[in-house]
Amino acid sequence: MPHQKRIAIIGAGPSGLAQLRAFQAAAEKGAAIPDIVCYEKQKDWGGMWNYTWRTGLDENGEQVHGSMYRYLWSNGPKECLEFADYSFDEHFKRPISSYPPREVLRDYIQGRVAKAGVRQYIRFNNAVKAVTFDEATRKFTVTAMDYSADTLTQEEYDHVIVATGHFSTPNMPEFPGFASFPGRILHAHDFRDAMEFKDKDVLLVGSSYSAEDIGSQCYKYGAESVTTCYRTKPMGYVWPENWEEKQQLVRVEGNLAHFKDGSTKRVDAIILCTGYRHDFPFLTDDLRLKTQNRLWPQDLYEGVAYTPNPQLFYLGMQDLWYSFNLFDAQAWLTRDMIMGRISLPDRTVMEALNQHWRDEELKIACDADAYEFQGAYIARLIAQSDYPSFDIEAVNKIFLQWKKDKKADIMGYRNKCYTSVLTGTTAVPHHTPWLWAMDDSQDAYLRPPTKPDTRRRERTTRALIPTKKLAASTTSKRLVRGG
Ligand code: FAD
Ligand code: NAP
Ligand code: MG
Repeated sequence: MPHQKRIAIIGAGPSGLAQLRAFQAAAEKGAAIPDIVCYEKQKDWGGMWNYTWRTGLDENGEQVHGSMYRYLWSNGPKECLEFADYSFDEHFKRPISSYPPREVLRDYIQGRVAKAGVRQYIRFNNAVKAVTFDEATRKFTVTAMDYSADTLTQEEYDHVIVATGHFSTPNMPEFPGFASFPGRILHAHDFRDAMEFKDKDVLLVGSSYSAEDIGSQCYKYGAESVTTCYRTKPMGYVWPENWEEKQQLVRVEGNLAHFKDGSTKRVDAIILCTGYRHDFPFLTDDLRLKTQNRLWPQDLYEGVAYTPNPQLFYLGMQDLWYSFNLFDAQAWLTRDMIMGRISLPDRTVMEALNQHWRDEELKIACDADAYEFQGAYIARLIAQSDYPSFDIEAVNKIFLQWKKDKKADIMGYRNKCYTSVLTGTTAVPHHTPWLWAMDDSQDAYLRPPTKPDTRRRERTTRALIPTKKLAASTTSKRLVRGG
């Protein structure tokens, strides 16, 4: 009898779950699939989408994985990330809005894998502590702490797939004066609830998605003022009137923040929205991917197989425009490489192809170049496996419209609707415009309000969102006019 391969997947977030679904899809079609173990250090699946109130260390003393916070809504249209084999229509049975809140997206992620019946492969509460490779046996040894059984396990595998994400370990710069700053300093990774910053003057360092969205949350839930500062270039949106965008922070003196242009601002709290590090403390140097957050990390053939040792795979390590459908395309390809349906060329050939993609990446000059680059990459992967193809050109157009909608109204873009390239279904507006939707639960989201949202009224009459702030948003103008 031929040796049945054993594979380890590390992480049961969207990437790890895509891998489980990919193998199950092959089994469903009659293929003999390898023996699979998926290690997940959290108690449940969903990865980043599995919200935790915890910060710092978890109940086992492990670094808390979650960087998501209360009231988080999708920041891109859901039509850009839809699973090609499991549509939003199939899951929700009716059209929903284009920017669902976290719980709703998590439900969607879970729906497919629950249906596929792959939960049995996952060892929850299991943190991988070490992965080593033996050149002689050509096998990996995975050492994991099983916190449920309170035992350290060691097992051998033919392949390891690292799906641990890369938005968890904070990149944490220090600025002069931090040690004596009288307020709170935290990284976006530890941000949980915007209500903490109600009536406060908040400074956010950074100019990417976290700065934009955490600033928006603080604004929405009643911060006195929001200041963001950029190192390279401003976000440049038309911000509400109590939001200012400044040049790089240079130092703080007491409560006073000093910026590169010589200006100052008194602030109560500082949130470092300075991004994350690709961090794999369980991997030996010969196996460890070293990269910045970029569209083409080096050393990954087809973006997945680690060229120095292509028995090892990484999923989802790229900077993300596409997300769930990107992980899927990678997982289907990885499956086929592991199952021998696709063979890997010599290392020199793999490296030459990598260099080609890196050269193309370096030519990227604007956002459109970036998502088109990633779209072309996904198309290449899908052409090699039986993952259902979808209209990537059409998704790129949605990205373009998304960018325009944000430029037009940064506090109102989430009220826009787009059309699914899979089902042709056009999203329907959420019952409450995003800026007024204080309750982000799936229950509130799916249940159309039969009576006016009294909670919202109570909050608004408490002037949590003064109308002068709302004037910045076109959607809000309509709201105000409509009474
Ligand atoms: P993750 O979701 O990070 O999952 C990795 C899993 O690996 C986790 O479950 C973790 O517990 C586990 N793990 C880690 N280390 C170990 C170990 N040693 N042993 C065992 N298990 C381990 N994407 C979007 O498409 N839309 C959005 O709106 C969006 N919002 C985001 C908001 C925030 C604040 C952040 C930080 C990210 C957001 N993302 C968004 C990107 C998000 O990272 C991806 O959507 C997706 O979660 C990545 O999936 P993943 O499986 O690769 O990684
Ligand atoms: P990111 O996109 O990697 O951006 C990091 C930011 O930190 C950049 O603006 C960078 O500036 C800045 N930075 C790094 N070091 C700095 C320093 N020393 N001084 C000043 N600035 C510094 O990280 P992110 O914004 O945290 O986003 C991570 C992921 O989370 C993304 O996929 C995003 O979509 C997701 N996210 C989603 C939501 C949502 O609403 N659903 C909310 C938050 C985050 P430079 O440009 O100068 O390098
Ligand atoms: Mg195909």
